[in-house]
Amino acid sequence: MGGLAAALGLRQVGWQVTVLEQAAEFAEVGAGLSLWPNALRALDELGVGPQVRAAGVAAVSRGGLRLPSGGWLRHARPDDVHVLMVHRAALHEAMRAPLPADALIPGATVTSVDLAAGTVAYRQGGETRQRGADLVVGADGLHSVLRQAMWPGHEPRFDGRRVWRAVVGAGAPRIEASLTLGADRQFGILPLPGDAVYWFLTAPAARPGERFADELAAVADRVAGWHPPIGELLAATTPGSVLHHDLYALDPVPGFARGRAVLLGDAAHAQTPDLGQGACQAIEDGVVLAAAVAAHGDLATAIGSYDRQRRPRTQLVARAAAKQAELNAKHYRAVTRLARIIPPPLWRRQAARFTDWVPPALPHDLSSTVDS
Ligand SMILES: Cc1cc2nc3c(=O)[nH]c(=O)nc-3n(C[C@H](O)[C@H](O)[C@H](O)COP(=O)(O)OP(=O)(O)OC[C@H]3O[C@@H](n4cnc5c(N)ncnc54)[C@H](O)[C@@H]3O)c2cc1C
Repeated sequence: MGGLAAALGLRQVGWQVTVLEQAAEFAEVGAGLSLWPNALRALDELGVGPQVRAAGVAAVSRGGLRLPSGGWLRHARPDDVHVLMVHRAALHEAMRAPLPADALIPGATVTSVDLAAGTVAYRQGGETRQRGADLVVGADGLHSVLRQAMWPGHEPRFDGRRVWRAVVGAGAPRIEASLTLGADRQFGILPLPGDAVYWFLTAPAARPGERFADELAAVADRVAGWHPPIGELLAATTPGSVLHHDLYALDPVPGFARGRAVLLGDAAHAQTPDLGQGACQAIEDGVVLAAAVAAHGDLATAIGSYDRQRRPRTQLVARAAAKQAELNAKHYRAVTRLARIIPPPLWRRQAARFTDWVPPALPHDLSSTVDS
């Protein structure tokens, strides 16, 4: 997601871009994704806002809160901050479509990066190849090779939780978007286009890597007796479609830029999904990076500016996500009590503290092109 955002932005300001992707094809698996207004504004700036909006459905995420018994702590309100719910594959498709096919190289696994020289070595079709660029963007996710080159040993931390996710298509029960707060687990239900429903369950995990022969049954065990339509949703879920991931977060890295390289997205600031902002921040990164290189002729100044603009914000959002998880875990009773009584304007202000962000305007129609 972050790599495509950077590619769209850099092309828009006149750069030539090549995206190396380890997967055999450019596609996205995964389930639903919430895009907050900050990301939608960034996607508008990247020129794909209308296409993404057409592929999504508006909803309030984390606005309707319930107890496992079914009692509502709070209903979503029209004046709550809304998200656009999209299927990850649809977002990926909308962001990939404007990029020329020869800018996308699938099946290319980056193995090392020379930050000062701006060269990457990668494996493709059993061969080792090398490429040089004016700027190398490390948008290679949680276990980033570029981050290892920039900050050796700076690895993501297991958060002690796991998440299961799935999408129920045809035959999904009717839902009201909600997040059900259990003492140590949460079940989320959100709409997707075409009357599909995205559900997720976050729950404790003693160690990473534990998997179940029947993942759907493992979910059902953990929410046995919880309110409708959770049981109906699970019954309508195709067992093999359930995704199971361990949750990780990255402690703040000391910098996003060095030499001819920058970090972006989860590679730079992987966070727990408690605010649903990880991909949104990656998309913001792409716009800010493009605006910075367009504004500064000198690369060192441009990437220094990118670092100064992005590091404080993304690390603040990541900290807030971790704080939210901690609050839910350690102060469950207080959280449920507060959810009932917080006045709507305060609730809105709290949700909007990260979503009011406005992207820099990207200049268009630059005549010069620079290899990247
Ligand atoms: C359960 C869950 C729910 C979430 N929900 C939301 C949400 O609702 N809203 C939101 O904004 N965020 C959400 N997030 C966060 C979001 O998924 C991530 O922040 C986002 O995917 C990060 O994008 P990225 O491009 O930085 O990394 P990734 O999406 O991980 O992409 C990295 C890409 O790099 C490729 N790659 C990796 N290594 C190499 C290599 N060596 N060589 C070549 N290619 C490589 C990978 O194949 C991949 O395509 C959620 C996360 C989780 C776990």
